[in-house]
Amino acid sequence: MNHHFNGNFGGDYVEGDKHSNRPDSPDPDHPNAIECPQCWKTTWVGTEKCVHCEYDIKGYLYRIDRDRRKAEFDKRVTLSYVAGSFCLMVSIILMQFSSSLIVAILFIIGLLIFGAASSAKFQG
Ligand SMILES: [Zn+2]
Repeated sequence: MNHHFNGNFGGDYVEGDKHSNRPDSPDPDHPNAIECPQCWKTTWVGTEKCVHCEYDIKGYLYRIDRDRRKAEFDKRVTLSYVAGSFCLMVSIILMQFSSSLIVAILFIIGLLIFGAASSAKFQG
């Protein structure tokens, strides 16, 4: 039986009946080498698809970066809520003892920080 198949087959590059490792796979120590999350073989960090299994490397790296930025964004929003709550709490406590302008300003700042946190939207 003679197979004529060109392309990726089980991670090996197949040309007709000649099986070989695809030559454009980087050395694992290469600075631009990355382990493919699907086939676990070494591929390029900058190419769109894994040279072995054609997994969407570009999309994978984009999702990782996006998740990282989303986590950072969520942290900032949480921090704003904490800071806003703190300003509001302190100003409300101080209102029991004084009705100075500084207390009113602290209250308004707390409201503004709270408003900014609640209206913040993550930009992909
Ligand atoms: Zn792969």
